[in-house]
Amino acid sequence: MLQQTTVRTVENKIQEIINIFPNFNSFENKKLEQLLNVWSGLGYYKRAVNLFKAVTIINDKFNGVLPDNSNALISLPGVGKYTSSAILAIGHNQKAFPIDVNVKRLVERISGAEFKDKEIENILSLACKKKISYRSFAESMMDFSSIICKKIKPDCYKCRFSNFCKSAFKKFENNKNTKKIIKKIDFYILNSPLHICFIKKPKFQFYKNFIHLPSNLDEEFTSNIKLKKKEKIKSFKFVITNNLFQVNVYKLNQKKLKIANTVWIEKIKTKELALPTLFKKILN
Ligand code: SF4
Repeated sequence: MLQQTTVRTVENKIQEIINIFPNFNSFENKKLEQLLNVWSGLGYYKRAVNLFKAVTIINDKFNGVLPDNSNALISLPGVGKYTSSAILAIGHNQKAFPIDVNVKRLVERISGAEFKDKEIENILSLACKKKISYRSFAESMMDFSSIICKKIKPDCYKCRFSNFCKSAFKKFENNKNTKKIIKKIDFYILNSPLHICFIKKPKFQFYKNFIHLPSNLDEEFTSNIKLKKKEKIKSFKFVITNNLFQVNVYKLNQKKLKIANTVWIEKIKTKELALPTLFKKILN
């Protein structure tokens, strides 16, 4: 999430979400749309959908208690090996080792060798022969690898492993050939006096659980409107996961046409709609 937004925004959002959904029980009698609404701005909306589905299963099948074994956790939507290990270690203080890119980098730099995730788990398991706080160990590994043994310019002078680390004081530079390709996309605000047109099955591949503003990708839709009369009202760059978009927004004053796969929503109601930040930015 921190790739798409700032730490402060994520902190505030998480607090907002916890205020509305403080525990598993609080998801009962609530709709996915309410979660998506408060999640709006964080990106990665599939995670919200998976969270909602997972909590529904926890309430129905596990009596509202977060499972404490790997098989049950991995059966939940959106939970894979990494997340289940993180829940076991951090949530349940069990002997489990969440291996992310940072932890993998730390172990591989110290040893000067490459390993599969399972091998790294075995190495960490050996390092934790005596019973320790697995919660603290997992959190320390994540923090140390992301704060000290950073991908670029690791702080080897501050590192307690520098005496024996096989990669100590080596140069790790940024790969400068990673310039992002900008993709161009046009969105259309179709205005009737009181309504705005949204599309239900959009071709734009992101935000699958939301209704969309129509775009130039929706060719069946655009063939029904007079694009010659469009008026450009704004243009901005927008990042979604690893994609950089040049977004152009056009307005068309249009009667409330009946076009397949669309829905016209009253303008005053669009403010209460669960919409991703991109569409909020377009409409504001
Ligand atoms: S000495 Fe440098 S490269 Fe080695 S683990 Fe520490 S920070 Fe990472």
